[in-house]
Amino acid sequence: MKIVAAEFLTSAVNPGGYPPGNLPEVAFVGRSNVGKSSLINRLVNRKGLARTSSTPGRTQLINFFKINDQFVMVDLPGYGYARVPDEVRAKWGKMIEGYLKNREPLKGVFLLLDCRHTPTSQDKQMYGWLLHYRLPTVVVATKIDKISNNQWARQQAVIKKSLPLAPEHQLIPFSAETGRGRDELLGVIKNWIHN
Ligand code: GDP
Repeated sequence: MKIVAAEFLTSAVNPGGYPPGNLPEVAFVGRSNVGKSSLINRLVNRKGLARTSSTPGRTQLINFFKINDQFVMVDLPGYGYARVPDEVRAKWGKMIEGYLKNREPLKGVFLLLDCRHTPTSQDKQMYGWLLHYRLPTVVVATKIDKISNNQWARQQAVIKKSLPLAPEHQLIPFSAETGRGRDELLGVIKNWIHN
């Protein structure tokens, strides 16, 4: 799939703010600082589209981006930022689940994990939740340029065991620096939006 156009559509906190229309949607979810904005920017090859932030937790809204007049990428707020009050964290959870649970055009979800880390309890919770609702899911290991092939072989086993990764789900290594994994992710999106 060739991406020829990408534009910011809107930000929302609840269903009333989601964009109208019936383009298929694919969503991205993960911990703050996991590399979500960098991944989205790399997928569309537009550096400033999704806002990367040096302060994790800054992007607290659901952001919608229209791609090629063909589909919509949905950037869900990063979870797991330690320095926020519990009620703010609970609100994020509700915002993310509210979108994932009831969004009719949603075709699939990328769950992002940092390739170097063991999934956190929130990562596992999110994954369990995606499984429970049977949402088409692909797990992405971000920042893969930061480790060697040997380290990745080990780390892949850790991630698979710890989630634990269901047999029907792929785990794809990705680097926003080198572009590794980009074609695979675009292939996944193509399948999702044509089903
Ligand atoms: P977000 O909070 O999940 O949107 O994360 P960002 O995209 O803002 O990335 C967080 C930090 O990780 C930034 O300093 C990025 O430059 C860095 N980063 C993101 N993706 C990669 C990657 O693939 N490779 C490397 N080496 N650094 C990355």
